[in-house]
Amino acid sequence: MSVTAEARPVTAPAIVIDGVSKRYATGAVALEDVHLEVRRGEFLALVGASGCGKSTLLNLVAGLDSPTTGRVSLPGGRPTLLFQEAALLPWQTAAGNVELALRLRGVGRAERKEKAVELLDLVHLSGMGDRRPHELSGGMRQRVALARALAQEPDILLMDEPFGALDAMTRDLLHDELERIWSETGVTILFVTHNVREAARLGDRIVLLTSRPGRVAAEFPVNIDRPRRIESPPVSKLAVEVTAALRQEVARHGR
Ligand code: ADP
Ligand code: MG
Repeated sequence: MSVTAEARPVTAPAIVIDGVSKRYATGAVALEDVHLEVRRGEFLALVGASGCGKSTLLNLVAGLDSPTTGRVSLPGGRPTLLFQEAALLPWQTAAGNVELALRLRGVGRAERKEKAVELLDLVHLSGMGDRRPHELSGGMRQRVALARALAQEPDILLMDEPFGALDAMTRDLLHDELERIWSETGVTILFVTHNVREAARLGDRIVLLTSRPGRVAAEFPVNIDRPRRIESPPVSKLAVEVTAALRQEVARHGR
C-alpha cells in the first residue's frame, strides 16, 4: 500500500491525544478520556466553559505536565506555548525579547539582530524593536510574544486564550495577522478560547469540551472561506450553533 505524496500533508496527524485523563493531586479530575487528533497545518479551535480543562489539555500537549492515563504524541514536531499574558521580560526591549529566544536556539549574534527585525516586521511591529514592554499597548505586547514564539521555529503553536485580554478592535487585527502568518508558515495551531465567535472566525474545525470532567462533547467543521470577518453572517451563524451546544453542556453540568 502506498500513500500519495499529495494526500500525506492533509491527513497526517500533528497532535495525537489518546485517551487522556488528568487528575490533580487535589483530587480534581480535569480531563477524562479525551481523544483528539489535530492534522498537520490544521487550525483547530478548542472551546469550552471556564474551568473545563482547556489549559490543562494545552499544558499536557506542551509537555509541561503529564497525563494521569493515556498519552499525547506529537508526530507533527516541536510545540511552542503562547499564554494570555505576553510574559515578556520587562527590562528587555521588544527586539531583545525576540533575540533571547533566538539565542536559546543557538543563533549567532549578527544573525539574531537581523532575524529579530524580520520577525517584528512579520507581526507588523516594524520600527518598534527599541521599545520596552511598558511602552507598548497590550496588542503590541502580544505581537512581540507571537514574534518570540515564531523565533523558536515551532511546528506546532499552542495558544491559550492569547487575545482574551484585548479590546475587540485590537483582537480583530490580531486575528487577521494570525491567519496570515498561519497560511504563510503552514504551522499547526491548537487555539484555546472560551469565545465561540473567535473560534468560528479562526478555526478549520471547532472542538467543544464539556466540564467536570472535561471530555470532547462535539465537533464542528468550519466550511467558511478565508479570509473571514468575525461579523460576517456565516461566522455569526456558526457561532450561534456552537453557543447553543455549549449552553446545553453548561446546563447539563449545573453551572
Ligand atoms: P480552563 O483552562 O478550561 O479554564 P483549567 O484547565 O485551568 O480549565 O482547569 C480545569 C480544572 O482543573 C478546574 O477545575 C481547575 O480548578 C482544576 N485545576 C487546574 N489546574 C490545577 C492544579 N494545578 N491543581 C489542581 N487543580 C487544578
Ligand atoms: Mg484556561
